[in-house]
Amino acid sequence: MERSGTILAEVKKNYGQVMNYVNGRWTASESSQVLDVVNPATGGIIAKVPLSTVGEVEAAIKSAQEAFWEWRSTPPMTRARYLFRLKGLLEEHFEEMSRILVQEEGKTIDESRGEVRRAIENVDAATGMSSQMMGYNLEDITNEVDEECVRQPTGVFCCVAPFNFPAMVPLWFMPYAVACGDTYVIKPSEQVPLTQNKVLELVDEAGFPPGVVNLVNGSKEVVDALLDSPVIRGVSFVGSTSVAKYIYRRAAEKGKRVQCQGGAKNFMVVMPDANLDKTVATLMTSFYGCAGERCLSGSVLLPVGGVYEDLRDNFVEAASKIKVGYGLDESVQMGPVISKKHMERVLSYIEKGQAEGARLLLDGRKVRVEDCPGGNFIGPTVFDEVRPNMTIAKEEIFGPVAAIVRVENLGQAIDIIHSSPYGNAASIFTSSGKWAREFKYKVQCGNIGVNIGIAAPIALFPFGGMKDSFFGDLHGQGGEVVDFFTERKVVISRWF
Ligand code: NAD
Repeated sequence: MERSGTILAEVKKNYGQVMNYVNGRWTASESSQVLDVVNPATGGIIAKVPLSTVGEVEAAIKSAQEAFWEWRSTPPMTRARYLFRLKGLLEEHFEEMSRILVQEEGKTIDESRGEVRRAIENVDAATGMSSQMMGYNLEDITNEVDEECVRQPTGVFCCVAPFNFPAMVPLWFMPYAVACGDTYVIKPSEQVPLTQNKVLELVDEAGFPPGVVNLVNGSKEVVDALLDSPVIRGVSFVGSTSVAKYIYRRAAEKGKRVQCQGGAKNFMVVMPDANLDKTVATLMTSFYGCAGERCLSGSVLLPVGGVYEDLRDNFVEAASKIKVGYGLDESVQMGPVISKKHMERVLSYIEKGQAEGARLLLDGRKVRVEDCPGGNFIGPTVFDEVRPNMTIAKEEIFGPVAAIVRVENLGQAIDIIHSSPYGNAASIFTSSGKWAREFKYKVQCGNIGVNIGIAAPIALFPFGGMKDSFFGDLHGQGGEVVDFFTERKVVISRWF
């Protein structure tokens, strides 16, 4: 690690116990249950996070409910002005937020900057929501009778976020909700509460009226209180598939709108005509960027036909050169995984891969980061001779482990992709428009890459997801948000 004074001061910083933000005020939770927030690179405790009580969740919901009527009648362009102020503040605090993100999540500083940029883009996109809220009308549906459809704000919404994108995921939803006239409760991941805490400081500074945006820290008990509240009208969830299924069921039972983005197992197909140098460079960020903890990360590499040997050798060589370390060091290319518990899980997959007979070409368990002995580091790992029915080719690992499954043709690659219960992302690397078209036409995944390793839609497009990677019908981001966050009302009028 670059031992500059600034970095050392940041590493030593303790953020204390995070607070909830309810009704425009920072309030300390009275819960006796408090967890440590641990820097994944050092193992050091950098903050404490309360598991808030049901009463505290109810107070946040009540404050959002009470703020709703005034906020919904605030002109849309005025609502947008708050978002413009928030955007300006996020830009001003861009670097500070990116560095907090490294501390709690373990990303490299560049990956963190990329995430904060994506987060801000959603605020940008939401500032333009007013026009999308316009309705439509038709005169004379019968003699002197007119009919119109208006969109109205719905009420209180909430989101439940995962650990891996602490800045961006809540901003996939909250800015659009408040732009549409709804009020909001955010529940960040208890593993990474600090970045969203910073976002709420900026929400406060932007002067949003009390109660329009609230934040409650905690875990399952907080989530259940949100799901069961009759006041909450809609839930956006991002996280693992098992929790997504649970939340989808429980919230739908209570009559709420629900959109749940779940886990993933993403396949990268490389055709014999792919540009090998560029493909391998792209695959490195796909498989090993964010330590493989992206829901869009590559997980299984499918070399087609004759490209296999060259691709495998170049892939392993490039992976072995990735510099692993503490994300605040600008030269580091890959950080740690989120926790000791998750590290054990990833290591257990490496053991399983060996036990099931895959050939370990690069063993990330050997990686040591000298300056950070307490960190959760696993280096880039590559398995070859993986068969599609092996555990490492089927289950989400969410770590820096690549499984190479050799296939004979594109049809076989697509069959393997379709055998997965997930449908989050898949990519093809090729110079052939014909193969690329066949791939994007047939593959049942919500985010498709053509010579792109991480097919992450910008804020103007919906974030896709099919099968066990998405439960619901209206996606986050893009044109669908206005349908998720508004009610449509039809008015038929005759004047005597
Ligand atoms: P997770 O499911 O463990 O937790 C997500 C959120 O749910 C957290 O806020 C947590 O407090 C809450 N939670 C956990 N267990 C719960 C329970 N039993 N009842 C109610 N709430 C509960 O996910 P994670 O480990 O934080 O994130 C990693 C997962 O998220 C991976 O599977 C990844 O693929 C997925 N993910 C998906 C997308 C996507 O867009 N599809 C994006 C990012 C992450």
